[in-house]
Amino acid sequence: MNIPFFDLRSQYRDIRSEIDAAIARTLESGSFILGPEGERFERAFADYCNARHALGVASGTEAIQLALMACGVRPGDRVVTVANTAVPTVVAIVSAGAVPVLVDVDPETLTLSPAHLREALQHASGAIKAIVPVHLYGHAADMDPILEVARQYGAAVVEDCAQAHGTRYKGRQVGTLGDAGAFSFYPTKNLGAYGDAGAVTTNDRGIAEKIAMLRNYGERAKYDNAMLGINSRLDEVQAAVLSAKLRHLNTWVEQRRTHAELYRQELAGAPVQLPGASAWSHNSYHLYVVRTKHRARLQKHLADAGVATAIHYPTPVHLQEAYRYLGYTASQFPVAEAACREVLSLPIYPELSHDAITYISRTVRQFEATA
Ligand SMILES: *Cc1c(COP(=O)(O)O)cnc(C)c1O
Repeated sequence: MNIPFFDLRSQYRDIRSEIDAAIARTLESGSFILGPEGERFERAFADYCNARHALGVASGTEAIQLALMACGVRPGDRVVTVANTAVPTVVAIVSAGAVPVLVDVDPETLTLSPAHLREALQHASGAIKAIVPVHLYGHAADMDPILEVARQYGAAVVEDCAQAHGTRYKGRQVGTLGDAGAFSFYPTKNLGAYGDAGAVTTNDRGIAEKIAMLRNYGERAKYDNAMLGINSRLDEVQAAVLSAKLRHLNTWVEQRRTHAELYRQELAGAPVQLPGASAWSHNSYHLYVVRTKHRARLQKHLADAGVATAIHYPTPVHLQEAYRYLGYTASQFPVAEAACREVLSLPIYPELSHDAITYISRTVRQFEATA
């Protein structure tokens, strides 16, 4: 057995004719930036998310940055997010000119803890302008109490949905719960481009209009610059690819969920802690993350059996060299830090076979945690 951690080529082979046609059509059109393909994808993705607006941008990181800027975040403002996320969440906050304020996560879901959030806002030395909950691994953060705290303190909410295409919170698609949602279409995400791409979703027309300007040099109309913008556009080739792939997204998310259910059954009795699955989250399983105090040995045990795994993430943001300037110390966020020592991501992608999941699970069950 040789099971890779993800397999983008087999997806391409499955839908090659649709992808090749979409790319050829775009090349023939002679239109490459902010054209009909982008508009078509934005409409389709907004519909998928049940959002009024979707705006294509150049990456998930810039989707977060632009959403924060459109929500009024200005240089020097403070923005809360979690200590254990993909570092780009924090890169985006810093790129918006803001100061990240980190908080610990809930031990069950590893998403923003409403209790820690409330505490952070009570004790913040300055006003908190925005909050960025992360729907980590495709598990929705507990948005109702988060939105309640945000309203109480007058903070905007930008959901980091980079790992959560197709995730629902109490029946509602993520990306429509806060002021704006930020999606990444990095190739390995649930919906992936063949390059970098991202989108912002929102139900607020004012925010949508600002993003449309901010992503395009701040232009309201050609050579009419109303805002201090950047260049972060979704190109037409990626938009055409994404439109072709979007038609398959529901199926792919269902396949991920079926795989997760099979893992749950097959890993019964295995010496690992299974992923959290709160009743409020219709989980899209971007990643399937187990926990063990013997991670290095389990990872090697799986590698020896031909199973590739990954770690999301080995180091929390506050212990990364680049973020020392924020002044946090080790053991400040114990839940995030324990997770970073124990989490291990098993392969999960639509094309993964049931035989592979059975094999991976058996290999994990055979692991001698106490050896
Ligand atoms: C992938 C990811 C991002 C960044 O997206 P890019 O498209 O790579 O810029 C942000 N946040 C989270 C949680 C991610 O997983």
